[in-house]
Amino acid sequence: MISFEFTERDRQLIEEARRQAKLAAKYARDFEDAEDSLLPHAYPEADGCPDVRALLEAFVQETSGHKIINALLYLEDWYGGVPLREHRYSLGNTVLKIAGTAEQYDRWHDRTIAIGLTEPVGGSDPASVRTTARFDPVSRNWIINGEKIFITYAEGCDAVLVLARVLHPDQPQRLSTFIVEKGTPGFNVGPQIRKMGIRWEDTAALSFADCSVPAFNHVDGDLKKTLQSFSESRPVVAAYALGVSRAALDYTWIQLGNAGVEPDYNARLATQPMAAARLLSLEAEWEATWLTVVRAKWIEQREGPGKVESSMAKAMGGMLARRVTQACIDVLGAAGLSAAGPLEKLFRDARIFDIYEGTGEIQRLIIARHILGYSPKELN
Ligand SMILES: Cc1cc2nc3c(=O)[nH]c(=O)nc-3n(C[C@H](O)[C@H](O)[C@H](O)COP(=O)(O)OP(=O)(O)OC[C@H]3O[C@@H](n4cnc5c(N)ncnc54)[C@H](O)[C@@H]3O)c2cc1C
Repeated sequence: MISFEFTERDRQLIEEARRQAKLAAKYARDFEDAEDSLLPHAYPEADGCPDVRALLEAFVQETSGHKIINALLYLEDWYGGVPLREHRYSLGNTVLKIAGTAEQYDRWHDRTIAIGLTEPVGGSDPASVRTTARFDPVSRNWIINGEKIFITYAEGCDAVLVLARVLHPDQPQRLSTFIVEKGTPGFNVGPQIRKMGIRWEDTAALSFADCSVPAFNHVDGDLKKTLQSFSESRPVVAAYALGVSRAALDYTWIQLGNAGVEPDYNARLATQPMAAARLLSLEAEWEATWLTVVRAKWIEQREGPGKVESSMAKAMGGMLARRVTQACIDVLGAAGLSAAGPLEKLFRDARIFDIYEGTGEIQRLIIARHILGYSPKELN
């Protein structure tokens, strides 16, 4: 039987992460009008606080497992709005771990490697990639040309893992990935993109003009291996969504409490004030999403990442954050929209979870293919 009961160590780590999230919360709006600024490596309050991720590494045997607890630590970061300490771990690092050689892993594992998949032509269908990697038999280097848009950590990363179409006499047109380090001639980062929400996240476009990288930088992950990294990261994005939703629900319950509205967990919904009944239904959705995230990570710990379970978690997380933040504003009315409170920002921040690392529609497509037994060619 599956049991998701926490160990004592799990509880300590999560409580400490929540305490730190509350310390970080005062910085959550600092980037609203300062999108060109990058997150500091750590806020001053981090000085007196243990690094919960280092504690997780040190005491992992006493926890329910690294994957589950790490995801739940991200939930807490997003509860605070910005992380007290920055974690510069990107999907490019995951692909390097899955598809890189031992030598490549040694060289870059402690660097931040952004992932460059999305192009102006569209992000949902990686097969449409137009960026090219041409093999130059003289220098034996790869020459990268193309453009990527909406890349997280574009400015702050050390390198980017670029998905490109291979132009090589022996490997016609297949897709593969290449690490392009910052400072490589021809590699440029555009200005920070102005966004509706998550303005503290570093997002910009990248361009590659005859960018020459050594053969060593070819991480020979085919598209399947590259996309496998999403099965690890999608439940984590759903955990972000849980954090934002939790913050919205907690704030709204406090406001309702101030107005004399309290939930009764033992009474039927029909007998409760409308506002309490609405939030209680959302609490149930929050719990269901939490379980889906923990289940996906539990499966990953036991058997490796499960594609469908990850998509289920991501689809539910994306929907949850949109529904919860919308409903909390409904319940509080105009006060919910005021920038004096957190909801209007949480509402804007919530939208991304249904977009990056695969939109909600794409997750539902993956789930539908699995249930109906269709291949990507048959159902797309
Ligand atoms: C803040 C931010 C950060 C990002 N970070 C990164 C990053 O680090 N690296 C990276 O590579 N990308 C990144 N992205 C891009 C993101 O992954 C893409 O936006 C996403 O995959 C969707 O691609 P698209 O925007 O091109 O939409 P499109 O693919 O053009 O899709 C448009 C709409 O059509 C729907 N749609 C598309 N295909 C189908 C289908 N077959 N069936 C049903 N509906 C469909 C989509 O769900 C969407 O609603 C980021 C985006 C944002 C906003």
